[in-house]
Amino acid sequence: MQCRTCQKWRVVPSKLKYEQIRENIIQVPFSCKYVHGWKPQVTCHDPTDISEDNGMAWAIDIPCIPQTPLGWERNITLRSEQGTRFADVYYISPAGRKVRSMKDVERYLEDNPDYAARL
Ligand SMILES: [Zn+2]
Repeated sequence: MQCRTCQKWRVVPSKLKYEQIRENIIQVPFSCKYVHGWKPQVTCHDPTDISEDNGMAWAIDIPCIPQTPLGWERNITLRSEQGTRFADVYYISPAGRKVRSMKDVERYLEDNPDYAARL
């Protein structure tokens, strides 16, 4: 994630942490002081964790997506071919089922009415 103060990039060590920060990114913009949670010595004066020319694929995630529910996993697959969509996002349910679209979500909730009631 990018620090609002120094514009440097900091690697977030876990998906859970990343989702916690992302959920509140508008109210609480990310900055190097959050890095103190896992790397206490890092400040805005330190060099960036990753630079933009290292050949990695870059994608900016949509801010404020709610945290993935407990037991679920959120995955992003980048598409290599040219297309209108750059990446696919899908969720894996606690039972291992892949949910890729709103249609899948509706179908999942039909099959699992207990889940729908809790939402
Ligand atoms: Zn910073």
